Amino acid sequence: MTQTHPQAAVPCAVDLTVSELPSESLPNEEVFTTVIAPCSDADSEATSEGESAESASGFAGFGFSEALLKTLDAKGYKEPSPIQKAAFPELMLGRDLVGQAQTGTGKTAAFALPLLERLDGRSNTPRVLVLAPTRELAMQVADSFKAYAAGHPHLNVLAIYGGSDFRSQIHALKRGVDVVVGTPGRVMDHMRQGTLDTTGLRSLVLDEADEMLRMGFIDDVEWILDQLPEERQVVLFSATMPNEIRRLSKRYLREPAEITIKTKDREAKRIRQRSITLQNAHKIEALNRVLEAVTGEGVIIFARTKAITLTVAESLEAAGHDVAVLNGDVPQNQRERTVDRLRKGTVNILVATDVAARGLDVDRIGLVINYDMPFDSEAYVHRIGRTGRAGRTGEAILFVTPRERRFVGNLERAVNQSIEPMDIPSNAEINQSRLDRLRDRLSQAAACEANDETSLLQELIQRVGQEHELTADQLALAAMKLAVGDQPLLVSGDESWLQTPLRNDRRDDRRGDRGRDRRRPDREARPPEDNMTRYRVEVGHRDRVKPGNLVGAIANESGLQGRMIGRIQIFESHSFVDLPKGMPEDVFNALRRLKVLNRELQITQA
Ligand code: AMP
Repeated sequence: MTQTHPQAAVPCAVDLTVSELPSESLPNEEVFTTVIAPCSDADSEATSEGESAESASGFAGFGFSEALLKTLDAKGYKEPSPIQKAAFPELMLGRDLVGQAQTGTGKTAAFALPLLERLDGRSNTPRVLVLAPTRELAMQVADSFKAYAAGHPHLNVLAIYGGSDFRSQIHALKRGVDVVVGTPGRVMDHMRQGTLDTTGLRSLVLDEADEMLRMGFIDDVEWILDQLPEERQVVLFSATMPNEIRRLSKRYLREPAEITIKTKDREAKRIRQRSITLQNAHKIEALNRVLEAVTGEGVIIFARTKAITLTVAESLEAAGHDVAVLNGDVPQNQRERTVDRLRKGTVNILVATDVAARGLDVDRIGLVINYDMPFDSEAYVHRIGRTGRAGRTGEAILFVTPRERRFVGNLERAVNQSIEPMDIPSNAEINQSRLDRLRDRLSQAAACEANDETSLLQELIQRVGQEHELTADQLALAAMKLAVGDQPLLVSGDESWLQTPLRNDRRDDRRGDRGRDRRRPDREARPPEDNMTRYRVEVGHRDRVKPGNLVGAIANESGLQGRMIGRIQIFESHSFVDLPKGMPEDVFNALRRLKVLNRELQITQA
């Protein structure tokens, strides 16, 4: 907003506080809308137009055609949502716009309606291009455009995405399309081949820009933006605004109006959410480690079946925890007693199924562990809502197997928050946590007020000290040993399994024998083949990297054929790649800086 708008003026901000979204089909929560746009004559017109539309009910007053108003009426839309109210006047004026908003706020209609309304007359080439991160979103947005264009039967909308037949897309493009909605890769392919003509493009929308960044499409998006005609309108929507998206917006958008739809600090925001990617076989050990390292007052562990609740509870009991179980087999009166014990703190860990824990309301739950992935995002939201209650903060940790990782994005969208990856706690972390707890207990004991027993204990200490001629330090140490008990204070067991590479089994289906080879556990610890060197690269599961990404990027950059790239092992935050020996220095340097999924490989010899 530092540039000067050609038509004049000082930047100004208009704040709108709207207490409720208008439609029942949209989430019913408080939102806060900020519209920032340069003030000019045209702007004040836009603002007053917007304001009068607000006071008049519905969609009238934004300059929409009768046909569109009828379509909206038929769809049952009565009031524009806050983001629509803010975006319509800006986009109807042809202005660029940056909107920070989630799915479910009505953002598709916020850009689709004005862009459709501005499509006057006919054209032989597309006039609106929408880029979306996934095939599903592209189809959804295209369907919305088609529905909103019902009053304009001559308008053609086409979705183009990877994985579907290229030729039929070319035919459709040749027949004439007004609005194209596509994924960046496929759109770029069509542009390169000359089958998608962008010379007549008037508006480009980047939908869910942060998702496109996360999925590694940002270079494609920039390439597409670089090909756009000079005179065009760019609209960018993103749920979050990472620096890369801000940079993109600065570079390609001109004097954009800015709209932020902030959901009010909801329950979920008070809950720190993390996920651990692990194999099923490691879940019990990982659970024990998490319970040691993440100290939570009151823990609920969610498991998918009754049988799993019992297995988990038994193994935790064997490890010395006080555990209760809540599943469909537990009779009602016993359930109430269990919840009461949890509330009072006589039991600290509850292992439950979703149904049994429905509505459970215990303030002191500090940690929820999703031992199994929930069936859907609704179940996840319900589960994590058992913590962070009564204004407190809480933690939620999700166990995911490599196969399930692809569903984490859905959960993140449902809670509107990222679920940070975390590693299974190591021996060092557990030991640190044990020492911290011991220190706390010692400090608390030292702070305890004296009572009748205190003088007895003092007498005892003095006697033992005199009998064995011990210093105060030696006595204190002996007392600490008593408090620690017979079990070793520190863990030192084998933790090499924590480093076992995690494989996404799905990719092996596509990689044929070479992929299957890599899955064989007996081969995992093998050193590289004689003619190969093992390299470490700094991308891993947390970046959602797949072997295909690494093979593609390295092959492109180094000129190696894909089949010459050897074994790939992916870990949480790094990976190992076996490459032919004797890599030239310039290739090595290029690979160091090479970005995969927006992270530099920073390749080093392992
Ligand atoms: P979106 O955020 O674009 O994914 O939209 C969420 C849902 O709200 C979609 O099912 C839209 O059809 C619907 N919707 C969008 N705007 C309105 C509105 N003004 N009134 C009622 N429903 C709407």
